[in-house]
Amino acid sequence: MAENRIFNFSAGPSMLPLEVLQKAQSQMLNYEGSGMSVMEMSHRSKAYDEIITTTQARLRRILNIPDNYKVLFMQGGGTMQFSMVPLNLLQKGKADYILTGYFAEKAYKEACKFGDIKVAASSKEQDFTFIPKQEDLNLDPEADYVYLCANNTIYGTEWQYVPETNGVPIVADMSSDILSKPIDVSKFGIIFAGAQKNMGCAGLTVGIVREDLLGNAKENTPVLLDYKTLADKDSMYNTPPTYAIYILGLVLEWIENMGGVEVMQEKNKKKAAMLYDYLDSSDFYTTTANKEDRSMMNVTFRSPNAELDAKFAKESAAAGMSNLKGHRAVGGMRASIYNAMPIEGVEKLIDFMKKFEAENK
Ligand SMILES: *Cc1c(COP(=O)(O)O)cnc(C)c1O
Repeated sequence: MAENRIFNFSAGPSMLPLEVLQKAQSQMLNYEGSGMSVMEMSHRSKAYDEIITTTQARLRRILNIPDNYKVLFMQGGGTMQFSMVPLNLLQKGKADYILTGYFAEKAYKEACKFGDIKVAASSKEQDFTFIPKQEDLNLDPEADYVYLCANNTIYGTEWQYVPETNGVPIVADMSSDILSKPIDVSKFGIIFAGAQKNMGCAGLTVGIVREDLLGNAKENTPVLLDYKTLADKDSMYNTPPTYAIYILGLVLEWIENMGGVEVMQEKNKKKAAMLYDYLDSSDFYTTTANKEDRSMMNVTFRSPNAELDAKFAKESAAAGMSNLKGHRAVGGMRASIYNAMPIEGVEKLIDFMKKFEAENK
């Protein structure tokens, strides 16, 4: 660890691999002999063209993205996708949403402005502690799409299966679990992810869009909210978030050097299992997420009461672990352990948890 760096358990923006930061630092003032930083470069320059082209190619390779999908680099965060998805996909005017948490609900509320939107299943009545099962999904075969949030960053649950929708395209918000494991892209119509969780830094949203879903946007759709505008111009209709794309490229290079998303998955499984095993063995801490739906990325738990939760957040920060306080909507604690969190960070957290338990029991 570089001097003074702490283990940052933030849900996002979150920790980046040290190697990525060091490489960005080494290239900051003079990118590969260009005499300037990537931030200062024209997005139409040869040097930048190489950055964006290489980054897209790496993402395609790492996630094994089929040729009939476009990779789009956008702005506006995950949240702007909540509007873009219905604007681009509603043709018959109907869609099914599966409500598994805060961001799924936000997406649903936004979509309701644009069409006849149904809740195909929801775990809201049980405080979003589980992921609905296939047989509990009330899917309309006439829907234009089925929407789900693959990993519920705030509640700490994650889909462990891709639902069967009989040909209705699935739109998945993978903001907080993309690149954490291999995925079968061909099972989805659209995948999107804000970069600041597991891909890089804020300012960039990556879209993976099946080609046949392009070109159906409502006529009065703002030009930048039409996926086709971005697809036709290779994400260069206007100035893309150049530096954030460069950082994504470095993160993808790091993932490839580590052995790809299979290796990420192994490491992530190990980290999550260490934490959950400890939590399950403790009668001090409790978890709320349904066991079989637990997230590999965001581990939510609580101590016996809110005062101890606050004390935990304070003391863990003093011990060199930041952002362990749970989201304001749920309280308790949350450890976000994305790809960049080393196993040592999880070990250190567990040691702290044991000590805190012993001191406060
Ligand atoms: C963080 C997050 C969002 C919101 O992303 P913004 O980039 O802040 O708009 C949406 N969905 C999920 C699953 C998230 O984790």
